[in-house]
Order: sequence, then structure tokens, then C-alpha cells
Amino acid sequence: MKQKFGAGIWHFATYVDRYATDGYGEPRSVIDAIELAGKVKDLSVVDINFPFFGGNFTNEKIKAALDKVNLGVVGITPEIYTKEFRKGAFTNPDPGIRNRAHELITQACEAVRFFNASYVKLWPGQDGWDYPFQVDHGTLWKNSMDGVARLASENPDLKFVIEYKPREPRVKMSYDSVARTLLGIEKIGLPNIGILLDFGHAIYGGESAADSAQLAIDYGRLFGMDVNDNYRSWDDDLLAGSLHPIEIFEFFYVLQKNKWEGVWQLDQFPFREDSVEMANQAIDFLKSINNALNDLDVKALQEAQSNHDAMKALKIAQKALYKNL
Ligand code: FE
Ligand code: FE
Repeated sequence: MKQKFGAGIWHFATYVDRYATDGYGEPRSVIDAIELAGKVKDLSVVDINFPFFGGNFTNEKIKAALDKVNLGVVGITPEIYTKEFRKGAFTNPDPGIRNRAHELITQACEAVRFFNASYVKLWPGQDGWDYPFQVDHGTLWKNSMDGVARLASENPDLKFVIEYKPREPRVKMSYDSVARTLLGIEKIGLPNIGILLDFGHAIYGGESAADSAQLAIDYGRLFGMDVNDNYRSWDDDLLAGSLHPIEIFEFFYVLQKNKWEGVWQLDQFPFREDSVEMANQAIDFLKSINNALNDLDVKALQEAQSNHDAMKALKIAQKALYKNL
């Protein structure tokens, strides 16, 4: 099977931050972003923010733009982290706003059905807290789970993925790690909720992404993944492979070992780079990883691992990886 590559459509947008409040480039609509994504060599699918940015577009209009450049949709990401939800979506102290989040995500569910996408992506970036004593932790965690549970039970035909992240924009996010997210999902106990494991979120949260992937797979909950890279103190969303190639290689080794099948998806933010060039370069890197997996002496590796022989195991991995980079 040929490996499919994907990207968040925001990879092709322009950005604003708290310094360049005038933006890092001219604003683009989702249609402009789709056009750019279409220029990437081996991209098959995109994850699209909902509502669609930069104008009033119907699902049909978006579909036409995607068809033109031969792209499918892997996921829909409802924007439950914008101004209205600054005090939280699932955990907002105002039950009216919690309901608004529910309505918005329910609309996103319709878009998932329309595009025949694989999942609704939940990234509860504002669900959490900033200060000691700010929240009742029990209530906050219960609301985090209840909001997701309600959606998953109302839409049993769809999959929901939770993308955990340690912090930003909230200083502390309630779904902050693989273990905590799994605890929540298992407590909810529904089959259609899983994890989207973002390599960068895992490593700057102090995890080994390979170990996190194995854990999520063992619970049958790894539904999706994102790659990028960072310096391990923040979600820099840099070019995949630019900083931690050996760890990303181990992450993909775990996926392969478990026969995990899914899209290899880019979640990068080219603030100052050309977005098409950066996507192409990342996909080239991912193809090298794919080749390295084929070259890996798995038998020898497993033999070394059975003795926890770090030097031997690393040598085997390095040999396969560095000759392909
Ligand atoms: Fe991500
Ligand atoms: Fe991120």
C-alpha cells in the first residue's frame, strides 16, 4: 500500500501572533490555502478548520476547490478555541457557551459526513486553567470528559479524536498528555473516541512519542497522528525531522511494528518559509523514514531490544536511518 500524506490546511495559511499583529503575510482564505496545498507534490488529504476561514463558503464550494487539485479530507477541526471560547469550550463556566461549543462541533460533524472524512478533530486548546486556585479541578476534568462523551454518543457513526497538548494557549490544558487523555477516554468508555498523537506535543510534554504511540495503540485508541519538530520547550511546529530524526524514526517504527495504518500528517507552521516548499521537504523526509523502515534489520533490532542492549539497537537504527537521509 502506498503511504498517504496529509497536512492541516492551516499549513498553507498566514499567521498572526502577539507581536506581528499585522500578520506574517497577506491573509488567505481557505480556498487560497487549498490551491497552495494542491501544489505540494505528494499530498493526498487535508484537515480543514471549521467554520471555513476567510469567507462564507459552503461545503460544496470547498469540495469543488478540493476536487480541482485532487485532495480529500482526512479530518475537520471545529474551532473551539477562538474568542468566544477563551474561557474554555467543554469546560467553560457558562453552560450556554458549553452548549455553543456542542452546536459548533455538531455542525462540524455534518461536514465530516459531507466530505466523508475520517474523524472530527477535537483540540480543546482553551480548556484548562492558568493560575493556582483558578478552577475546581474535579469539575474541570468532569466537564472535559462529559462534553466529548455527549458528542460521541450522539454521533456513533463518526470517530472523534482528541489531540492532546501540554499548554498553549491555555497555560495548563486539561487534555495534556497521552496518559491523561487515555484515562479520560477509557472512563467515558465509548468505542468512537481516540487520540490524535502529535509528535511535537508528545516530545515537548516530556514524552517519548514512540512509547506514547505504543500505549495508545495498546488501548486501541490511536486514530490519527501529526508530525513536526520542536526544541522541546514549546510547540514550535518546525519542519518534521529538522531536530529529532532518530526519535521520529522510532515513532514510525512503533507504528509499523503494530501495523498501524493511517495518514502521515504534517502539522507545521511556516511563519517565514514558503509553505509549499516546506511541505515538500517534510514529505521527502517522511519518505526517507519509510525507506529506512524497509532497510531496518528488524530481527537484529528485536534481538538487541530483548537484551535492552542500547548500543547495539541504536547502531542498527542509525545505520538504516542515516544512509537514507
Ligand atoms: Fe497537531
Ligand atoms: Fe501543535
